[in-house]
Amino acid sequence: MRVETISNQIRTGALDIVWSDGKRQRFTHAFLRGRCQCTECKSLQLRGKAEVLPVQLRITEIHPVGVYGVQLVFSDGHDRGVYPWTYLRELTQRHDQE
Ligand SMILES: [Zn+2]
Repeated sequence: MRVETISNQIRTGALDIVWSDGKRQRFTHAFLRGRCQCTECKSLQLRGKAEVLPVQLRITEIHPVGVYGVQLVFSDGHDRGVYPWTYLRELTQRHDQE
């Protein structure tokens, strides 16, 4: 499955992904920050110590990581999160909650 477009709405803090099969996803930046898969964040999540993330948190940069996925850089300075496409594809955000 390929990603057709990925667009970052800085103002509203949403990241929109459109896949080649037409599936569309919208995630808030804070939601993605909270699901970072780097070693540091994963260990915090496992210990139940994930930080409370401000809704004003933003993705400031998006860097492609080969065909594997994207690296997201956040406004809190965190830049270690690589998000594989397969991981993003399976993520679901319930917008009535977050
Ligand atoms: Zn992380």
